[in-house]
Amino acid sequence: MADVVSPIDGRVLTHIAPASPAEVDAAVREARAAQPAWARRTGSDRSRILHAVADLIEARIDELAETETRNTGKILSDTRREAIRAANSFRYYAGWAEQVRGETIPVGPEYHTYTVPEPHGVVAGVIPWNVPFFFAVKKIAPALAFGNACVLKPAEETPLTALRLAGLLAEAGVPDGLVRVLPGGRETGVALVSHPDVDLIVFTGHHDTGKAIARSAAANLTPVALELGGKSPQVLFPDADLDQAVDAVVLGVFASCGQMCIAGSRLVLHESIYDDVLDRVAERVRALRVGDPFDAETDLGPQITAVQRDKTAAFIAESSGAGRLVAQATLPDTERLRNGFYVAPTVFDRLDDNARLLREEVFGPVLAVSSFRDDADALRLANDTEFGLAAGIWTADIARAHRFAGQVRAGTVWINTYRVMSDLVPFGGVGLSGYGRENGTEAARLYLRSKSVWTSLTGGTPQGYGMGGAGAAG
Ligand code: NAD
Repeated sequence: MADVVSPIDGRVLTHIAPASPAEVDAAVREARAAQPAWARRTGSDRSRILHAVADLIEARIDELAETETRNTGKILSDTRREAIRAANSFRYYAGWAEQVRGETIPVGPEYHTYTVPEPHGVVAGVIPWNVPFFFAVKKIAPALAFGNACVLKPAEETPLTALRLAGLLAEAGVPDGLVRVLPGGRETGVALVSHPDVDLIVFTGHHDTGKAIARSAAANLTPVALELGGKSPQVLFPDADLDQAVDAVVLGVFASCGQMCIAGSRLVLHESIYDDVLDRVAERVRALRVGDPFDAETDLGPQITAVQRDKTAAFIAESSGAGRLVAQATLPDTERLRNGFYVAPTVFDRLDDNARLLREEVFGPVLAVSSFRDDADALRLANDTEFGLAAGIWTADIARAHRFAGQVRAGTVWINTYRVMSDLVPFGGVGLSGYGRENGTEAARLYLRSKSVWTSLTGGTPQGYGMGGAGAAG
């Protein structure tokens, strides 16, 4: 049995038995058995059921948000927003279920040729602990919309809302066995992603885990999409609206206690505004209220695990020797929160280019600040990372903004905004941030594969692989 702990006060909420490899095997087999009938249903039938799931989520936003806050320590307004977004995602993919189509390809008068988009079969979803309910939905909703089954493994620290989702799916009429949520840690995850009967792996998590999963998937040639971490820059030019930019910088790295893959954890300031912006950020950071995430006055709750808190604390201790500590918020000192996993939001500058804080993902509320002289210097600093998940640029010069967007190495670029996301807009990374794209039309590409069908209209087969007239050779 694994303890499920509340990071708010360290209290054990419940114990959950991790799924064994035998249980993983049984779940994959059940999913495999249930999937063909699901894929044969009409798109409108699948759509109706996905809308029913959205209805059930919408009727339980408060309950889901409260459970999520208790298990993750994230502030209640954030977990409410995530639950609402989760319901919206089910509606978005409910729409997609009725929009799947292939194409006819007029290769010539002798053939009728068309493509059929087909589901992969069994999708294995593996998710981290930072956004448990919404990420569970982000894997399950598109899998179902496009006719797949799904076996999902939430993080062992935060399984509660994903398990609740499994109940809601059943209530909405998702057939038995089609979706299974299997709690557990690494061993459960390894059993799932190395299962030979899994047809697609969609993973969100750390890049080292992503590499391990890609290696094990290679043994079965299972396709994989990897949504991994980041070390994303926010670049501020002097002509930007600095009030808006400072807001976005503070929220961009300190929201969710810094536990966001898209955290704008590097602030890159033009030298002419360096002191001014740093002062403003520092003032905002000192005023951040760290504490009980159920309290409406709280800006940041605790980190989700003690391990994560200790990792962040180690980054802060090390960076205090390597650079200048610019500002730090204060920690709660109430007896009730004494055993919670709180860390103080902290800002550093004057770090060497090779400092670990500028290179590695903290996944905690720590910001590293550096300065640049001109556009080329800004781009060099923005791209000086092995990650490539996101980047923000703040400037009134639209040509400069688009030049930067074209040249920065990142899956998402935000111009004069940050952290805005939508089911409609593709999302994913490059480099250590992974490969594959979720959302929007990219979700259809990920969760479906294309079959090509040739029909002879004249009878007979041409010599070799070439097709008369089109000149293509296979
Ligand atoms: P993690 O990689 O340690 O764990 C993620 C999941 O993988 C968990 O469910 C875990 O049990 C499972 N797992 C661990 N080892 C496994 C293995 N060998 N095979 C199969 N499954 C295995 O990540 P974490 O620490 O829980 O989450 C934080 C990381 O996730 C950060 O790096 C963060 O940037 C990243 N993340 C990325 C995105 C994105 O969309 N790009 C979003 C959120 C978080």
